[in-house]
Amino acid sequence: MLLKDKVALVTGAGSGIGREVALAFAREGACVVVADVDATGGEETVARIHAGADGGGSSPGALFVRMDVSDPADHEAAVASAVQRFGALHVACNNAGIARGSPEAAVPLAQISARDWQRVIDVNLSGTFHGLRTQIPALLAAGGGAIVNVASVLGQVGNLSLSPYVASKHGIVGLTRAAALDYAQQGVRVNAVGPGYIDTPILSAASAEARARMVAQHPMGRLGGAGEIAELVLWLCSERASFCTGGYYPADGGFLAR
Ligand code: NAP
Repeated sequence: MLLKDKVALVTGAGSGIGREVALAFAREGACVVVADVDATGGEETVARIHAGADGGGSSPGALFVRMDVSDPADHEAAVASAVQRFGALHVACNNAGIARGSPEAAVPLAQISARDWQRVIDVNLSGTFHGLRTQIPALLAAGGGAIVNVASVLGQVGNLSLSPYVASKHGIVGLTRAAALDYAQQGVRVNAVGPGYIDTPILSAASAEARARMVAQHPMGRLGGAGEIAELVLWLCSERASFCTGGYYPADGGFLAR
Protein backbone atom coordinates (compact mmCIF):
# COMPACT_ATOMS: atom_id res chain seq x y z
CA MET A 1 0.00 0.00 0.00
CA LEU A 2 1.47 3.30 -1.15
CA LEU A 3 0.03 5.46 1.64
CA LYS A 4 -0.06 3.09 4.60
CA ASP A 5 -0.24 4.99 7.93
CA LYS A 6 -0.58 8.33 6.12
CA VAL A 7 -3.26 10.99 6.63
CA ALA A 8 -4.47 12.80 3.52
CA LEU A 9 -6.69 15.78 2.74
CA VAL A 10 -8.42 16.22 -0.63
CA THR A 11 -10.36 19.36 -1.59
CA GLY A 12 -13.24 19.10 -4.03
CA ALA A 13 -13.48 15.41 -3.10
CA GLY A 14 -17.25 15.26 -3.45
CA SER A 15 -17.15 14.79 -7.22
CA GLY A 16 -15.07 13.99 -10.29
CA ILE A 17 -11.27 13.95 -10.00
CA GLY A 18 -11.20 14.77 -6.27
CA ARG A 19 -13.49 11.85 -5.44
CA GLU A 20 -11.29 9.44 -7.41
CA VAL A 21 -8.19 10.81 -5.66
CA ALA A 22 -9.84 10.28 -2.26
CA LEU A 23 -10.82 6.71 -3.21
CA ALA A 24 -7.32 5.95 -4.50
CA PHE A 25 -5.71 7.34 -1.33
CA ALA A 26 -8.07 5.24 0.80
CA ARG A 27 -7.40 2.11 -1.28
CA GLU A 28 -3.70 2.62 -0.62
CA GLY A 29 -4.17 2.77 3.15
CA ALA A 30 -4.52 6.47 3.98
CA CYS A 31 -7.01 8.03 6.37
CA VAL A 32 -8.75 10.63 4.20
CA VAL A 33 -10.30 14.00 5.01
CA VAL A 34 -12.84 14.57 2.24
CA ALA A 35 -13.35 18.34 1.87
CA ASP A 36 -15.94 19.94 -0.38
CA VAL A 37 -18.47 22.76 -0.52
CA ASP A 38 -21.03 20.10 -1.51
CA ALA A 39 -21.96 18.11 1.60
CA THR A 40 -24.05 15.54 -0.27
CA GLY A 41 -21.23 14.66 -2.66
CA GLY A 42 -18.65 14.70 0.10
CA GLU A 43 -20.66 12.39 2.35
CA GLU A 44 -21.18 10.07 -0.62
CA THR A 45 -17.40 9.84 -1.10
CA VAL A 46 -16.94 9.04 2.59
CA ALA A 47 -19.69 6.40 2.38
CA ARG A 48 -17.96 4.81 -0.62
CA ILE A 49 -14.68 4.68 1.28
CA HIS A 50 -16.36 3.16 4.32
CA ALA A 51 -18.19 0.64 2.15
CA GLY A 52 -14.96 -0.39 0.48
CA ALA A 53 -16.31 0.71 -2.90
CA ASP A 54 -12.73 1.69 -3.74
CA GLY A 55 -12.07 -1.98 -4.41
CA GLY A 56 -9.83 -2.59 -1.43
CA GLY A 57 -11.72 -1.33 1.58
CA SER A 58 -8.34 -0.81 3.17
CA SER A 59 -8.62 2.75 4.49
CA PRO A 60 -8.54 3.00 8.26
CA GLY A 61 -10.84 6.03 8.19
CA ALA A 62 -12.52 8.85 6.32
CA LEU A 63 -14.14 12.09 7.43
CA PHE A 64 -16.15 14.73 5.57
CA VAL A 65 -15.41 18.40 6.23
CA ARG A 66 -17.47 21.10 4.55
CA MET A 67 -15.22 23.77 3.12
CA ASP A 68 -15.18 26.61 0.63
CA VAL A 69 -11.57 26.72 -0.53
CA SER A 70 -11.76 30.47 -1.08
CA ASP A 71 -12.13 30.91 2.71
CA PRO A 72 -8.82 30.68 4.64
CA ALA A 73 -10.66 29.81 7.86
CA ASP A 74 -12.13 26.68 6.21
CA HIS A 75 -8.60 25.47 5.41
CA GLU A 76 -7.56 25.97 9.03
CA ALA A 77 -10.58 24.00 10.19
CA ALA A 78 -9.98 21.16 7.70
CA VAL A 79 -6.32 20.73 8.66
CA ALA A 80 -7.26 20.92 12.36
CA SER A 81 -9.86 18.18 11.77
CA ALA A 82 -7.24 15.95 10.15
CA VAL A 83 -4.83 16.38 13.06
CA GLN A 84 -7.54 16.05 15.72
CA ARG A 85 -9.19 12.97 14.23
CA PHE A 86 -6.24 11.13 12.68
CA GLY A 87 -3.21 12.59 14.52
CA ALA A 88 -1.32 14.34 11.71
CA LEU A 89 -1.37 15.41 8.06
CA HIS A 90 1.12 13.97 5.55
CA VAL A 91 -0.52 14.38 2.12
CA ALA A 92 -2.78 16.97 0.48
CA CYS A 93 -4.37 17.37 -2.92
CA ASN A 94 -5.60 20.89 -3.74
CA ASN A 95 -8.12 19.91 -6.38
CA ALA A 96 -11.31 21.99 -5.96
CA GLY A 97 -11.88 24.29 -8.89
CA ILE A 98 -14.48 25.93 -11.10
CA ALA A 99 -14.44 26.62 -14.84
CA ARG A 100 -16.09 30.04 -14.73
CA GLY A 101 -17.55 32.57 -12.31
CA SER A 102 -21.09 32.25 -13.66
CA PRO A 103 -22.79 30.27 -16.43
CA GLU A 104 -22.72 33.25 -18.81
CA ALA A 105 -19.01 33.99 -18.25
CA ALA A 106 -17.54 31.93 -21.12
CA VAL A 107 -16.89 35.04 -23.22
CA PRO A 108 -13.92 36.99 -24.63
CA LEU A 109 -11.79 38.74 -22.03
CA ALA A 110 -13.21 42.27 -22.35
CA GLN A 111 -16.72 40.95 -21.65
CA ILE A 112 -15.84 39.17 -18.40
CA SER A 113 -17.10 41.01 -15.32
CA ALA A 114 -14.74 41.86 -12.47
CA ARG A 115 -16.94 39.70 -10.24
CA ASP A 116 -16.69 36.61 -12.47
CA TRP A 117 -12.89 37.10 -12.74
CA GLN A 118 -12.57 37.40 -8.96
CA ARG A 119 -14.60 34.29 -8.21
CA VAL A 120 -12.46 32.05 -10.42
CA ILE A 121 -9.24 33.51 -8.98
CA ASP A 122 -10.59 33.22 -5.41
CA VAL A 123 -11.51 29.55 -5.79
CA ASN A 124 -8.83 28.18 -8.12
CA LEU A 125 -5.73 30.24 -7.36
CA SER A 126 -6.27 31.74 -3.89
CA GLY A 127 -7.89 28.46 -2.84
CA THR A 128 -4.66 26.65 -3.71
CA PHE A 129 -2.56 29.31 -1.96
CA HIS A 130 -4.64 29.11 1.23
CA GLY A 131 -4.37 25.32 1.06
CA LEU A 132 -0.59 25.37 0.75
CA ARG A 133 -0.02 27.91 3.50
CA THR A 134 -2.21 25.93 5.91
CA GLN A 135 -1.13 22.41 4.95
CA ILE A 136 2.65 22.97 4.82
CA PRO A 137 3.09 23.71 8.56
CA ALA A 138 1.14 20.54 9.36
CA LEU A 139 3.31 18.50 6.98
CA LEU A 140 6.45 19.97 8.55
CA ALA A 141 5.13 19.06 12.00
CA ALA A 142 4.59 15.50 10.76
CA GLY A 143 8.20 15.26 9.57
CA GLY A 144 7.47 15.89 5.87
CA GLY A 145 5.02 14.94 3.17
CA ALA A 146 3.72 15.69 -0.29
CA ILE A 147 1.19 18.04 -1.88
CA VAL A 148 -0.28 17.86 -5.38
CA ASN A 149 -2.11 20.83 -6.89
CA VAL A 150 -4.53 20.13 -9.71
CA ALA A 151 -3.78 22.53 -12.56
CA SER A 152 -4.79 21.79 -16.19
CA VAL A 153 -3.43 21.72 -19.71
CA LEU A 154 -4.80 25.26 -19.59
CA GLY A 155 -2.03 25.97 -17.09
CA GLN A 156 0.36 25.68 -20.05
CA VAL A 157 -1.58 27.04 -23.04
CA GLY A 158 -4.45 29.44 -23.63
CA ASN A 159 -8.05 28.76 -24.60
CA LEU A 160 -10.81 30.86 -26.16
CA SER A 161 -13.21 32.61 -23.78
CA LEU A 162 -11.80 31.18 -20.55
CA SER A 163 -9.22 33.79 -19.51
CA PRO A 164 -9.86 33.71 -15.72
CA TYR A 165 -9.55 29.91 -15.71
CA VAL A 166 -6.43 29.95 -17.90
CA ALA A 167 -4.82 32.62 -15.70
CA SER A 168 -5.72 30.75 -12.50
CA LYS A 169 -4.26 27.47 -13.77
CA HIS A 170 -1.05 29.13 -14.99
CA GLY A 171 -0.87 30.71 -11.52
CA ILE A 172 -1.20 27.32 -9.84
CA VAL A 173 1.80 26.03 -11.82
CA GLY A 174 3.87 29.03 -10.71
CA LEU A 175 2.73 28.74 -7.10
CA THR A 176 3.67 25.05 -7.15
CA ARG A 177 7.21 25.84 -8.31
CA ALA A 178 7.66 28.62 -5.73
CA ALA A 179 6.35 26.48 -2.85
CA ALA A 180 8.53 23.54 -3.92
CA LEU A 181 11.66 25.71 -3.76
CA ASP A 182 10.77 27.13 -0.35
CA TYR A 183 10.45 23.66 1.22
CA ALA A 184 12.74 21.44 -0.91
CA GLN A 185 15.18 20.94 1.95
CA GLN A 186 12.53 20.35 4.60
CA GLY A 187 10.97 17.16 3.34
CA VAL A 188 7.88 18.69 1.74
CA ARG A 189 7.43 17.98 -1.98
CA VAL A 190 4.97 20.07 -4.02
CA ASN A 191 3.91 19.17 -7.57
CA ALA A 192 1.17 20.01 -10.04
CA VAL A 193 -0.74 17.74 -12.39
CA GLY A 194 -2.18 18.91 -15.69
CA PRO A 195 -5.25 16.99 -16.78
CA GLY A 196 -6.51 17.23 -20.33
CA TYR A 197 -10.31 17.32 -20.65
CA ILE A 198 -11.70 14.77 -18.21
CA ASP A 199 -15.19 13.33 -18.25
CA THR A 200 -16.58 14.78 -14.99
CA PRO A 201 -19.60 16.93 -14.00
CA ILE A 202 -17.54 20.11 -14.62
CA LEU A 203 -18.13 19.46 -18.35
CA SER A 204 -21.87 18.88 -17.94
CA ALA A 205 -22.77 22.28 -19.44
CA ALA A 206 -20.91 21.47 -22.68
CA SER A 207 -23.02 20.78 -25.79
CA ALA A 208 -22.45 17.65 -27.89
CA GLU A 209 -20.59 19.80 -30.43
CA ALA A 210 -18.37 21.31 -27.72
CA ARG A 211 -17.61 17.84 -26.37
CA ALA A 212 -16.67 16.64 -29.85
CA ARG A 213 -14.30 19.59 -30.18
CA MET A 214 -12.72 18.70 -26.85
CA VAL A 215 -12.24 15.08 -27.91
CA ALA A 216 -10.61 16.25 -31.15
CA GLN A 217 -7.95 18.13 -29.16
CA HIS A 218 -6.63 14.86 -27.70
CA PRO A 219 -4.47 12.73 -30.01
CA MET A 220 -5.77 9.64 -28.15
CA GLY A 221 -9.22 10.49 -29.54
CA ARG A 222 -11.10 10.49 -26.24
CA LEU A 223 -11.59 12.39 -23.01
CA GLY A 224 -9.73 11.22 -19.92
CA GLY A 225 -11.22 9.45 -16.92
CA ALA A 226 -11.01 10.90 -13.40
CA GLY A 227 -9.37 7.68 -12.22
CA GLU A 228 -6.52 8.20 -14.69
CA ILE A 229 -5.68 11.51 -13.00
CA ALA A 230 -6.02 9.98 -9.54
CA GLU A 231 -3.35 7.38 -10.34
CA LEU A 232 -0.84 10.14 -11.19
CA VAL A 233 -1.72 12.15 -8.07
CA LEU A 234 -1.36 9.00 -5.95
CA TRP A 235 2.07 8.24 -7.39
CA LEU A 236 3.30 11.80 -6.85
CA CYS A 237 2.12 11.68 -3.23
CA SER A 238 3.86 8.37 -2.56
CA GLU A 239 7.48 7.65 -1.69
CA ARG A 240 7.93 6.31 -5.22
CA ALA A 241 8.12 9.96 -6.32
CA SER A 242 10.72 10.82 -3.66
CA PHE A 243 12.93 12.92 -6.01
CA CYS A 244 10.02 14.80 -7.65
CA THR A 245 9.25 18.34 -6.58
CA GLY A 246 8.27 21.55 -8.34
CA GLY A 247 7.12 19.66 -11.42
CA TYR A 248 4.20 19.97 -13.80
CA TYR A 249 3.00 16.49 -14.81
CA PRO A 250 0.53 16.28 -17.70
CA ALA A 251 -2.03 13.49 -18.03
CA ASP A 252 -3.69 14.70 -21.18
CA GLY A 253 -3.92 12.06 -23.89
CA GLY A 254 -1.24 13.90 -25.87
CA PHE A 255 -2.99 17.31 -25.81
CA LEU A 256 0.22 19.28 -25.19
CA ALA A 257 2.30 17.21 -27.60
CA ARG A 258 0.54 18.63 -30.66
P1 NAP B 1 -16.20 18.60 -10.54
O1 NAP B 1 -16.65 17.23 -10.90
O2 NAP B 1 -17.09 19.76 -10.74
O3 NAP B 1 -15.69 18.55 -9.02
C1 NAP B 1 -15.26 19.69 -8.35
C2 NAP B 1 -15.71 19.60 -6.91
O4 NAP B 1 -15.21 20.77 -6.24
C3 NAP B 1 -17.23 19.62 -6.79
O5 NAP B 1 -17.67 18.76 -5.77
C4 NAP B 1 -17.50 21.08 -6.42
O6 NAP B 1 -18.70 21.27 -5.71
C5 NAP B 1 -16.30 21.37 -5.56
N1 NAP B 1 -16.10 22.80 -5.39
C6 NAP B 1 -16.38 23.80 -6.27
N2 NAP B 1 -16.09 24.99 -5.73
C7 NAP B 1 -15.60 24.73 -4.49
C8 NAP B 1 -15.14 25.55 -3.43
N3 NAP B 1 -15.14 26.88 -3.55
N4 NAP B 1 -14.70 24.96 -2.31
C9 NAP B 1 -14.72 23.62 -2.16
N5 NAP B 1 -15.16 22.79 -3.13
C10 NAP B 1 -15.59 23.34 -4.27
O7 NAP B 1 -14.86 18.97 -11.35
P2 NAP B 1 -13.58 18.11 -11.77
O8 NAP B 1 -13.60 17.98 -13.23
O9 NAP B 1 -13.44 16.91 -10.91
O10 NAP B 1 -12.46 19.19 -11.44
C11 NAP B 1 -11.55 19.04 -10.37
C12 NAP B 1 -10.32 19.88 -10.66
O11 NAP B 1 -9.73 19.41 -11.89
C13 NAP B 1 -10.60 21.37 -10.88
O12 NAP B 1 -9.58 22.13 -10.30
C14 NAP B 1 -10.57 21.52 -12.40
O13 NAP B 1 -10.22 22.81 -12.80
C15 NAP B 1 -9.49 20.52 -12.73
N6 NAP B 1 -9.53 20.09 -14.11
C16 NAP B 1 -10.62 19.49 -14.63
C17 NAP B 1 -10.63 19.12 -15.97
C18 NAP B 1 -11.83 18.48 -16.62
O14 NAP B 1 -11.89 18.47 -17.86
N7 NAP B 1 -12.77 17.90 -15.86
C19 NAP B 1 -9.51 19.37 -16.77
C20 NAP B 1 -8.40 19.97 -16.20
C21 NAP B 1 -8.41 20.33 -14.86
P3 NAP B 1 -20.00 21.76 -6.56
O15 NAP B 1 -20.31 20.65 -7.50
O16 NAP B 1 -21.04 22.00 -5.51
O17 NAP B 1 -19.57 23.03 -7.27
